[in-house]
Amino acid sequence: MTSASTEAPIRVRIAPSPTGDPHVGTAYIGLLNYIYARQRAGKFVLRIEDTDRARFVATSEEMIFDSLRWLGLNWDEGPDVGGPFGPYRQSERTEIYREHADILLQTGKAYRCFCTPEELEVVRKQQMASKLPPRYPGTCRRLSSEQIEQNLATGKVHTIRLAVPPHGADLSSATTFRDELRGAITFEHNNVDDQVLLKSDGYPTYHLANVVDDHLMEITDVIRAEEWISSTPKHVLLYKAFGWQIPRFWHMPLLRNLDKSKISKRKNPVSLIYYRDSGYLPEAIINFLGLLGGGMPADINNGTEQFTLSEIIQHFVFTDIRVGGPVFDLTKLKWLNGEYLRKLSPEQFFLAVRNRVFSDDYLRQISSLMQTRIEILSQFGDLTSFFFSDNVIPAPDVFLPKKRSLDETLAFAQDQLVALEASEWTHDALESGLKKLGEEKSWSVKENFMLLRAIVTGSTTSPPLLESMIVFGKARTLDRVRRFLEAQKKLTTQKK
Ligand code: GLU
Repeated sequence: MTSASTEAPIRVRIAPSPTGDPHVGTAYIGLLNYIYARQRAGKFVLRIEDTDRARFVATSEEMIFDSLRWLGLNWDEGPDVGGPFGPYRQSERTEIYREHADILLQTGKAYRCFCTPEELEVVRKQQMASKLPPRYPGTCRRLSSEQIEQNLATGKVHTIRLAVPPHGADLSSATTFRDELRGAITFEHNNVDDQVLLKSDGYPTYHLANVVDDHLMEITDVIRAEEWISSTPKHVLLYKAFGWQIPRFWHMPLLRNLDKSKISKRKNPVSLIYYRDSGYLPEAIINFLGLLGGGMPADINNGTEQFTLSEIIQHFVFTDIRVGGPVFDLTKLKWLNGEYLRKLSPEQFFLAVRNRVFSDDYLRQISSLMQTRIEILSQFGDLTSFFFSDNVIPAPDVFLPKKRSLDETLAFAQDQLVALEASEWTHDALESGLKKLGEEKSWSVKENFMLLRAIVTGSTTSPPLLESMIVFGKARTLDRVRRFLEAQKKLTTQKK
């Protein structure tokens, strides 16, 4: 047994992918890693996993930094603060992954796969038709070295795949690892695919990059969401293939909607930017996340369920985390936020309102939309109240176009939501996305924009719509459209 003094210093990390707005799940996992490190005088690392170029969103990394800092989860090493194990952005480490893929090729732990996407699609369809799970059938595993040489000589594109040890029904052909919350977990190799490690564009997949980095960055404890459990046997096989020490794995329960489904933007706001911009206090969010899923003893602060980040660090017990999914209950978060607002002194409260609801920057942007539109300054509020309100739900006489039924209008509003979700938040992108949708669904520009104006501003008259949406922000605009749709859905089911 290793004594405590010779054990490696604790190093943990979060490894978000910059694919959109930072997610509350990232904050939850970030908090757990942060407190684990702080409880053990360890290091908390932020690594950006940006190798999936198809899903990459350029503004996302900055938003991740901003929102985690806003919550007070400061990292010791990361792309922006540096550190001894950098670079901390995976796109700057591609050479390292290629070298490691080569090592696996040389040791026979991985192989080159020349199958084309079309060929793989045929196999996938056959498997689906026979109700089999999609698996690579190992075609290229059986290629002779001459065939491989020939393919390489003709410049055939290829990927590199993990050679999962031979399959078989017996448990000797299985990988077992320990999860610190669940104990031993075994995956038979029958159920583990020959994962692509290096894609044909030379970029690694998550699996290779993640394991190589966790090893090179000397991560001792991988604390991440439960959804990665099924990837872990592949990771363990990789650690073994390289002959590396396997870190401890802690898979944290997934956050859930009230109906117990996996948390999703359809049922809950999930963007941290939304919570920040609509005036939740970071202390309330940290407190709320600390309460989820167990870990905090119930009697702290006389069972008030209210505690600070440093109290969480002091008392949180990782092995008390319950693996049943904790419910992200917005009503509770709102209650907590109210409690925290009331803890502020009158001056602090005033400053919070001033900085969040009426900040100079926000007012300046709104003013610039208003100068040509009013005759006396006191009219300012008449046209702009929607920028400062939380609940803006228009009545049908405001949002329903004259010649449209309620059903088709709500269906179109749903399409607008999908278009807005996918859109970059610029005037041109919004305009062309919405116009394209209108053309596809035969909604005139006027009907299209009037409907959205009603949903976002609650009124038929407003400052210019797209400019207003840009000032209001993507996260809050989307939330408003979703809430509108939810409210209408409730009304229609009540009527039925
Ligand atoms: N890039 C993965 C994510 O976005 C990291 C998962 C892990 O922590 O291994 O969640």
